[in-house]
Amino acid sequence: MQFSDQDGSGAGMGPATAGVGRHWAVVGLQWGDEGKGKLVDRLAGRFDAVVRYNGGANAGHSVVVGGVRYALHLVPSGILAPGVLAVVGNGVVVDPERLIEEMDGLSARGVDVSALVLSDRAHVVLPYHKAEDALREELLTAAPVDEKSPPKHAVSAIGTTRRGIGPAYADKVQRATAVRVGDLLRPELLRSKLDLICSMKNAIFRGLRPGEPDPFNAGEIADRMIGFGERLRPVIKDTTYLLHDLDRAGKTLLFEGANATMLDVDHGTFPYVTSSNASSLGIGPGSGLPPQKVGTIIGVVKAYSTRVGGGPMPTELFDETAHRIRERGREYGTTTGRPRRVGWIDLVALKYAAMVSGVTEIGLTLLDVLAGFDELKLCVAYETPDGRTDRFLPDGFDLAEVRPVYESMAGFGDEITGVRSFEDLPGAARRYVEAIEAFVGVPVRTIGVGPDRVQTIEREAGVPAGGRA
Ligand code: GDP
Repeated sequence: MQFSDQDGSGAGMGPATAGVGRHWAVVGLQWGDEGKGKLVDRLAGRFDAVVRYNGGANAGHSVVVGGVRYALHLVPSGILAPGVLAVVGNGVVVDPERLIEEMDGLSARGVDVSALVLSDRAHVVLPYHKAEDALREELLTAAPVDEKSPPKHAVSAIGTTRRGIGPAYADKVQRATAVRVGDLLRPELLRSKLDLICSMKNAIFRGLRPGEPDPFNAGEIADRMIGFGERLRPVIKDTTYLLHDLDRAGKTLLFEGANATMLDVDHGTFPYVTSSNASSLGIGPGSGLPPQKVGTIIGVVKAYSTRVGGGPMPTELFDETAHRIRERGREYGTTTGRPRRVGWIDLVALKYAAMVSGVTEIGLTLLDVLAGFDELKLCVAYETPDGRTDRFLPDGFDLAEVRPVYESMAGFGDEITGVRSFEDLPGAARRYVEAIEAFVGVPVRTIGVGPDRVQTIEREAGVPAGGRA
């Protein structure tokens, strides 16, 4: 073994360069919808490939290019950058029908989708997953609340998008009842798998809905899936080898996280989370590339907080301020159209998320939405039943019991959508940005002041490592 860097890629180098990766990642640090799509779209052209590693069609990115709005669910936002590979990694769960719809929709608008690559090891979302998702949410919503049980132990609906994502991941872990993208190209195997799986799924549904006919027909599902497989055949590849080949060839990869750190199944506000590792920690298992290969991790943060679906959100607002933020920020879900819950920025949660995702810089978004408020509030600690803390409580039930402790700052009156440099921002807006980076201990490198690509302030910020608190 030679400790030399023959191809200039860093492969074969000794410990001196270990852990200093060339690749980048963009992850949400809140509860999703932070504007990751726009950031990835801006960066994509500088990379050789953009890679999705988690989630499914429950994610929704909106990207505005030249006044045209694109809603992307499964296809990585990198598809909008000519010449960049758009890779759907093994950690994603794929609804083939939706993927094909999305590809056709993009093609119809003149986007070249030939750069799409889909992992043969990604798991497939099937019709019974969507039915299971809907039924589970229905049963949880209808579950009677036990008067004697304290609210701490009551369980309510997760508020999923009912796209079958959770049940597809559950089947992945169950293994025998899982279908992977590669199986769509093996009709015999697929048919026998689906025969077995549908008999099991039908039995479960009969138990939960006695007297109703079997909802799933294995033959019909197999026919449809085999058709989708044929259509997708040209894009199905072993993406683990592909990514390592690109890495060895000195190419650069941009990992695009779907959902967000607070929704990470292990480190988010469980059980009100999504079913994948939506923090940067999911990159390894979801792509096959070891984490030390990723050196720059951008945490995307809205200038305030939003959340969709159930679960605690300490800084949630219900007043006129909430209404104003929701309307100015167009805070309605890309995937579901649901109004998002909104609130002030939660720095306690943010600092935790930045820690878990190991972010090296922050991309602040939607600062323009906060123009016109006299006062801005930032949550800097929580009051809990056990006293005040500046540590986040990731358990969903514990978090439901905290009250936010705020610090107030002066707001900025002027619209900032036309501002392109940090120095030209109103003083109060600059101080707001500086307060965020000081608390979290991570520099804010870009600031979004509008939905279009160009409405971004690039900044070389300097902030002492370690932060405040
Ligand atoms: P993602 O899933 O994290 O990409 O977020 P979404 O696409 O769901 O939500 C972000 C929304 O905010 C989209 O409609 C974007 O066009 C828009 N957006 C992104 N950055 C900014 C910004 O800085 N200002 C404003 N006003 N809108 C933005």
